[in-house]
Amino acid sequence: MNCLICNKNEAVKFLDDYKLEMKEDKDYFKNAKIYRCNDCDFAFVHPMPTNDALDYFYKHVYRSGGRPPYLVSENYEDQIKHYLEDKNLSYLLYLTTLIDVKKIKNFYDFGCGDGDLGYALKKKFPQLNLFCSEGDSQCEKILKDRKYKNFENINEIDKKFDLIVTTHSLEHLSDINSIFSKFKEMLNPNGFIFFEVPNCPKEYWNGRPYDGPHLLFYTKKSIEVLAEKYNFKFLNFSNSAYTFSEDHRFQRESQDLYHKGKSSIFTKLKQTLKKFLPKKLISFRQDILQIQKIRNDIKMNWFVNNTGDNCYIRGILQKK
Ligand SMILES: [Zn+2]
Repeated sequence: MNCLICNKNEAVKFLDDYKLEMKEDKDYFKNAKIYRCNDCDFAFVHPMPTNDALDYFYKHVYRSGGRPPYLVSENYEDQIKHYLEDKNLSYLLYLTTLIDVKKIKNFYDFGCGDGDLGYALKKKFPQLNLFCSEGDSQCEKILKDRKYKNFENINEIDKKFDLIVTTHSLEHLSDINSIFSKFKEMLNPNGFIFFEVPNCPKEYWNGRPYDGPHLLFYTKKSIEVLAEKYNFKFLNFSNSAYTFSEDHRFQRESQDLYHKGKSSIFTKLKQTLKKFLPKKLISFRQDILQIQKIRNDIKMNWFVNNTGDNCYIRGILQKK
């Protein structure tokens, strides 16, 4: 088997069985195993799920209510406010420090979800035109309201962009090469890619509760090899977010919450009750929960990079 990034054959070794967060997802991921390239540190799933299985999973399953990663909020008013959460603010600070966003015209977010980053940036830089590719039907309304032009199929794009953003998407792909050649084609000369993905050195693999639904696993070295392969230079590379042990703890909590919630009558009762509560009240409750976090240590995770123990990596690549 050849490494999907550096293409070397003899360096690729079996690493582990693929771990699912929810065993129901086995329908999409079948008997996946993980292989790792000892040369460029890149790991990947084999055999890959079919494109049809992945399309169905991300269109209809991934953001369904009551299942991790709990990306859809219970009401629209609350969903809109997510652009003010710490993670997005940390992206804003990072990007606007390293890139002169005044000079960016066409902005494209690959796998943008609700499009929080572009929406927030456009508030400060109104010249931006927002484009994206997001196949999830649950994001359709908010992207339309935020004036994104959504190209569901990236291969239909013939526009040029100054900045491509892709946060927490590249690890969900089954093929990184076709995306990177497409990004290169889509970028104007000297255009930028801002990415963030999970960091997967040995600290990631040791004690991880699950891998799913990620399919590709990067480290600094594998991103460097990828950048070199497609002729990008690094404007910045940083390690970001929680420690590996915190990340593993959050993952276990999310998994427990799902399994408890599924069987508990109390959860079902709570969900039914919420349908009858005024939306403003639910939104107010979310604000109170956020206020409780304001002076919590956990908040620091999104504002301190490069501790040597961060579970994500981010960077800005520039087209040479
Ligand atoms: Zn490799």
